Parts: sequence; structure tokens; C-alpha cells
Amino acid sequence: MKKITEFTREELLELQEELEKQYEEFKAQGLKLDMSRGKPAASQLDLTNGLLTALDDYHTESGLDARNYGVLDGIPEAKKLFSDLLDIPVDKIIVGGSSSLNLMYDAMTRLMLFGTQGEKPWKDVKGIKWLCPSPGYDRHFAVTEDMGMELIPVPMTAEGPDMDVVEKLVAEDDTIKGIWCVPLHSNPLGACYSDETVDRLASMKTAAKDFRIFWDNAYGVHHIYEEVPLKDIFKAAAACGNEDRILYFFSTSKITFPGAGIAIMASSLSNIAEIKKHMTIQTIGHDKLNQLRHVKYFGNAENIRAHMRKLADALRPKFDMVLDTLDAELGETGLASWVTPKGGYFVALDTLPGCAKETVRLAKEAGVTMTGAGATWPYKKDPKDSNIRIAPTYPTIEELDKAIHLFCLCVKLAGVKKLIGES
Ligand code: PMP
Repeated sequence: MKKITEFTREELLELQEELEKQYEEFKAQGLKLDMSRGKPAASQLDLTNGLLTALDDYHTESGLDARNYGVLDGIPEAKKLFSDLLDIPVDKIIVGGSSSLNLMYDAMTRLMLFGTQGEKPWKDVKGIKWLCPSPGYDRHFAVTEDMGMELIPVPMTAEGPDMDVVEKLVAEDDTIKGIWCVPLHSNPLGACYSDETVDRLASMKTAAKDFRIFWDNAYGVHHIYEEVPLKDIFKAAAACGNEDRILYFFSTSKITFPGAGIAIMASSLSNIAEIKKHMTIQTIGHDKLNQLRHVKYFGNAENIRAHMRKLADALRPKFDMVLDTLDAELGETGLASWVTPKGGYFVALDTLPGCAKETVRLAKEAGVTMTGAGATWPYKKDPKDSNIRIAPTYPTIEELDKAIHLFCLCVKLAGVKKLIGES
């Protein structure tokens, strides 16, 4: 079959007419669907409804009354649960509130205000910069933008950030203070960092002594098609004396209830001591009843893994539907490319250059809200205007069926219009 990108102008005009007709039919359906955010569907949330009644006692294992004040960095049994799940020693873990993004924002704020390990506060660093592997997570980029940093996009590969680029940049410029990393099933590409990427991040020479890797393992146990291992960055960094470089984040937002789950951070013992010094001013402690109910509900790390397998079973049909439809509708057209993720929450698609905004606009006009075009890039500026994040989890499978077909139609329509304009 001839690719649409190889059509003559006459063929394109004919196709456009046909696509416009299909588009008007979709519009007439009055759809109102949302594929914009990586939110779990209610049916996923139902799988942990047991949490709502898991708390039959409010005492911790040591007999502490979890209803009352106290315990700055999390109850020991919650630390143990995440220690077992993520293979991080308990004394490197701080259990926070319900949002890892909140922990990241706080960590960044502390670095800005106070600096770390005796280095000068980042607010006093002129021209401070941050590396943003792109496409990436819009809320990460927003945090560093909010701090007034200059955001530097770094190309992503299937194995993580392009390390040749990263190593060169960080070696030369001591105002580059860190990098965002989502090492497993990255948002939105679904990239999983290879051992080599982890090793190079852990060992690279940085001009800034206080360079920090924000290691956001948000999708660390969220395998859908394949259980992908991740090399231990703490061990890799410790082997080269760089353990302070790593600030690790994780949460149960996509395991139990987003906004009512548990978030943790982990780091070297000296970083943890420094962080706690400030945390103790900031709060008396986080919600121990919530920590306790998660511990009581899951019991152990293996039960969390078993729950994630159930969640994967629930999500797989949705990802299958998106990927099969993309294949069937766009596979032979030359108008789009995408990568099949092994897990996580997203499928990232690239349209022809200059077509992402128009695709998203067309979808919106016909009742399907996608993540804004450009959102996956720093400053929301996708230099090629081609990347679109598809979030398949929230709609029902019936809604998703409609939404993804309409989306494919919009990719085609935007692509064809662009090709006609250029022909
Ligand atoms: N990190 C990444 C990579 C995410 O995709 C998300 C949620 N979309 C978060 C963090 C937010 O996590 P939390 O709910 O723990 O703040």
C-alpha cells in the first residue's frame, strides 16, 4: 500500500474530503471524552477499596497511637514496606504525605533556599539551569521553571536520556545543577533506563559539586507487558562516591488512591539527615493513619506486586486497544510514529512535524480532550510540534474505542492538510 506521505496532490485532496466527512460524523456524536491526564479509572480505584476499611486498629506495631502527633519521617512498618518493595535500606527512606510531586517541590525549594552539603544556596547561583529529558513530564518541568531555572531539553532515547549529550553538558557547566529522570516506563515515552544509562548517570563527572539527580521512579512497579528490571542507582553511585547525588522519589498514587496514597523519598544518610533538619521545622509529621492502613491492607511488598499484576490485567485491554488502533489506522500511513510501552501510563505519538497542535485542536473540537500539544517539552514548546501524549487509563473501554478512533482521524486530517499545504 502506498503511504499517504507519498500521495499526489489530487489523491490528498480526495482523501481530505473523505476524512472531513468522517470528522463531521464524529462531531455530530457530541462526544465528551478526556484522555488528557494519567488518571486511574474508577474501576482501577475499586481494586483497592479494601483500604477504606483496612484500619481496624490505630496502634502501630510498637504500640504507638497513630491518631496523635509524632514520628517525623514515617512509621517503621511503612518504611519497611517500601524498603522491601524498592530494595532501599530503611534508614535511607523518609515517608512523606500523599504526593511525591510535593516532596520533589519541597526538595527543590530546600536546595534553592539552603543549598546542600555546604555548597551555596541555589537561589544565589546566577544563570542556574536544569536538564529536562524531553519528551518528559510537564509537572516536573513546571517545578524547575517555577524556581526560575533555565530548562535545557535533552533528547530521549529508548534507553533514557542521550548520555553523550548529558555528560558533555554537565562536565562543562557548573550552573547546571541537576536532571529530571523517570527511570522506568517514563512519562510519556515509556522508556526504561538501561544499566549503562544508570551507570553513566551515577558516575559522570559534573562541574557542579552539588549536582542532583531527581530520580522519580513513579512507575517503578507499573509493568503492563513486561517486568523490566532497573539497576540500583544508589549502589552504582556509591561505588563512585556519588551517593549524595541521588534524590529518589516514589508514591502509591497509581497503586492505591492518587491524592490519598503514600509518597516517599530516599537518599544518602547524610542527605537524609540534612533534609530532616528542615523537615522538622516544616511539619510535626505526616498522616500515620494513612501509612498504617496501607501497611495493614497490603501486609507485605509481594502483595503490592500481586496487586500490580491485577492492575496490569485491568489496563492491558486499554493499551491493546490504543496500540492496535494506532497500528490499524496509522501504521501504513507514514503520518505518525510511536513506541509500544512495556508499562506505565502513556503512549507517546509523534505526528508529522508541525501537526501536533492541529491534531489536538481537531480532537478537542470534536469532543476529545488530549494532553495539550507541547506539554511534554520545557516551556510547553515542542520544537517540532509533533509529540502528543495519549493517556488511555481514565476512559472506559467503550469511550476509549471512540476516542482513539477519532484521535487517529485527527492525526490523518492534520497530516493531510499539512501535506496539501506543502504540495
Ligand atoms: N511523577 C510522574 C512521572 C508522574 O507521572 C506523576 C503523576 N502523573 C507524578 C510524579 C505525580 O505523583 P504524585 O501523585 O505522587 O504527586
